[in-house]
Amino acid sequence: MNKFDYVRPTTLAATLDLLRASDEPMLLAGGQTLLPTMKQGLAAPELLIDLNAVSELVELSVTGDGIRVGAMCRHATVATSGAVRDKIPGLAELAGMIGDVQVRNRGTIGGSVANNDPAADYPAALLALDATIRTDSRDISADEFFVDLFETALEPGEMIREVVFPSCRSCGYLKFRQPASRFAIVGVFVARHRQGVRVAVTGAGSAGVFRWTEAEAALDGNFAQQALTGLALDPQQMLSDIHAGDTYRAHLVQVLTGRLVEALGARSLRVRT
Ligand SMILES: Cc1cc2nc3c(=O)[nH]c(=O)nc-3n(C[C@H](O)[C@H](O)[C@H](O)COP(=O)(O)OP(=O)(O)OC[C@H]3O[C@@H](n4cnc5c(N)ncnc54)[C@H](O)[C@@H]3O)c2cc1C
Repeated sequence: MNKFDYVRPTTLAATLDLLRASDEPMLLAGGQTLLPTMKQGLAAPELLIDLNAVSELVELSVTGDGIRVGAMCRHATVATSGAVRDKIPGLAELAGMIGDVQVRNRGTIGGSVANNDPAADYPAALLALDATIRTDSRDISADEFFVDLFETALEPGEMIREVVFPSCRSCGYLKFRQPASRFAIVGVFVARHRQGVRVAVTGAGSAGVFRWTEAEAALDGNFAQQALTGLALDPQQMLSDIHAGDTYRAHLVQVLTGRLVEALGARSLRVRT
């Protein structure tokens, strides 16, 4: 591992000062991705800014029309929050499906979203729920935030402060897990908003998380599993790896979306894979 300086600020203001004063800073959240990456020499920050003592970043609050989740909120916090379960139950369910207990107690929403792993769960929720990523300098819609595999709209040195989720009429998440890591081979998040249905898919797309707009249009007219009949995703747009081929992934997206729509329609989301 390369040499680096380490700082642990306790306020947001001090964090931003440090961030702006360094040429090559990196933010340390849960460290589950960043530390192994540094050990392998694939990331070599001059300055590592540890966010774990910044209390402003762990706030989770109810807004007029939704929830604000601070960047340093752990997955376990989101999974067990009464406010999230009440307002956006599908989001709490998704957080509870991430990794295992250790991963959920350490990993953060800010780290997950900034990392934009193509198999991560949160990006599907942010996209389907039409969330806003609030950074130290601007608001970015989820539609604009996720750019490509491990690539986001964040500029170098830009920090996520919180994610703002509007509430929806109903929503849910289903994933088919890779049994060892528990990352999504395919994960589908469906949200019914007053303005229409949004369907987001993680784990499957060759360019990372994406919205399945054909399914959204079909479900807008008829929110039923049958509305998906005849729709098919192009396998050439899907990932293919040792865990699952592209045709299999395309099929799984359709199966999971259908099951989720059925479950949400019946207002009892008890389906798990
Ligand atoms: C065994 C294992 C299983 C896992 N299973 C799953 C799973 O099933 N589903 C899933 O979705 N994820 C899974 N993960 C990923 C994990 O849950 C974390 O979300 C992920 O590692 C990143 O979060 P972190 O808080 O650890 O971030 P870190 O590793 O600390 O940081 C990741 C990146 O984000 C940057 N960053 C951190 N915070 C901010 C911020 N506020 N603003 C800007 N940039 C920031 C860092 O600089 C770094 O580049 C798994 C991880 C492990 C180790």
